[in-house]
Amino acid sequence: MFPPFTLRYVRFPDRLRAECQPTPVERPRLVAFNRPLAEELGFDLDVYDPDRATQALAGNVVPEGAEPVALAYAGHQFGNFVPQLGDGRAVLLGEVTDHAGRVRDLQLKGSGRTPFSRGGDGRAPLGPVLREYLVSEAMHALGVPTTRALAAVTTGERVYRRVPEPGAVLTRVAASHLRVGTFQYVAARGDSEGLKLLADETIARHYPHLLGPDGAEREEGERYLALLEAVVERQAQLVARWMGVGFIHGVMNTDNATVSGETLDYGPCAFMDAYDPRSVFSSIDERGRYAYVNQPAIAQWNLARFAETLLELIDDQRERAIERATVALEAFGERYEAARLAVMRSKLGLETAEQGDAALIDELLDAMQAGQADFTLAFRRLADALEGAEGEASLAELFGEREALDAWLPRWRERLGCEEADEAALARRLRAVNPAVIPRNHRVAEAIAAAEEDDFGPFESLLAAITRPFEASAGEVDYTRPPQDDEKVLRTFCGT
Ligand code: AMP
Ligand code: MG
Repeated sequence: MFPPFTLRYVRFPDRLRAECQPTPVERPRLVAFNRPLAEELGFDLDVYDPDRATQALAGNVVPEGAEPVALAYAGHQFGNFVPQLGDGRAVLLGEVTDHAGRVRDLQLKGSGRTPFSRGGDGRAPLGPVLREYLVSEAMHALGVPTTRALAAVTTGERVYRRVPEPGAVLTRVAASHLRVGTFQYVAARGDSEGLKLLADETIARHYPHLLGPDGAEREEGERYLALLEAVVERQAQLVARWMGVGFIHGVMNTDNATVSGETLDYGPCAFMDAYDPRSVFSSIDERGRYAYVNQPAIAQWNLARFAETLLELIDDQRERAIERATVALEAFGERYEAARLAVMRSKLGLETAEQGDAALIDELLDAMQAGQADFTLAFRRLADALEGAEGEASLAELFGEREALDAWLPRWRERLGCEEADEAALARRLRAVNPAVIPRNHRVAEAIAAAEEDDFGPFESLLAAITRPFEASAGEVDYTRPPQDDEKVLRTFCGT
């Protein structure tokens, strides 16, 4: 059933990874399987045998051709460098080539102890597995680059956290698991050969254009500088997308920062309800280091750690390398602003660019903050507001205080006059970029609580709703609705 594996990482020197079999679990049960993704990856579903699939996705049987490895990496956690982290509860089965010709990693997460487990049990509780499943699939449906969820299996075993919880294994699909922390791992050991291997693998998998006709002529140092620039650009794009959907990653440590530009590691992440740029959900982020508003600056900080590892590849002369890398890093600000402006313009229905657009965006956000308006619904109802008084009222009712909104609306309408589109077309445009449904925290919590009692109904219906985020849900449950006061989830816990 599995597509053929390519085993690129297995061929890396063993100081970069450790061969490691998943630890079998007692009573595996497949609770989620992402068929469209499986098809995209080249799984042969005609020979799909649920029992065998379950055994493989639980780690009880290693699929033919796979050679599981745990990857080594380091990382800055909340600003402190940890020279060795690594896959402590995950193994890479191998890579597969999808229908579009892209190489993708298949990883089991929660699959037992590895040489990198330190004190941990190598397992994952069901709650964090379902959270990652829901949120990563929602991000994909929203058009945000992200790792994907292929399957979730419950293990029939308990894992012991604050309380005993049901265990589970997630199958994660990623463009790769190369992280800023992977580079830090080799750099911290003075492993120049390993560094070059990683940089070349990153280029081959994520930035092959750097090897193209131009790239062949490129001098080596130039190529690695171009790699840094390319990663800066992808991260700028990524964080701009997060900001546009109100997403808070929660643990932007360098080991959770990919060089592919995909969102990785859904621990204590959350989408904002009421707009507040200082929003923090993570229970372990006491100082708000990874608050919504800080995300661009943290991404740049992480990129600086990445740049440090590349210096010796950029130029033999350290001073010159630092100079060039600094220029590349400083471009982040401008690139991020450009990416953010593009994202936010489209959220206002603007396809053209005008001088005052940035101010127009910020004024709406200020009005939302003052009125504690729900971030997602406020943007969603802009389309309604174009369609008449009733729609405008439904937008205004989201704002606890509406003076600023009332001042803003006529300016926005005037600006829309520069767009060559009538109101119906503008409303359609707005509804195609501003989602109705996001995986709201209280809904995710509700789905997890039910699943822990062996009722996967709420998980399934939430999953169905968030995979079509631009359609207002018509089912029994209104997934567009923000939490009432007693439903609000103020803290989320990380996946460990
Ligand atoms: P994360 O918080 O998921 O980014 O993980 C940070 C580090 O802790 C990584 O090296 C993980 O592999 C490791 N880790 C997290 N949970 C466990 C666990 N249950 N057992 C072993 N290692 C873990
Ligand atoms: Mg991590």
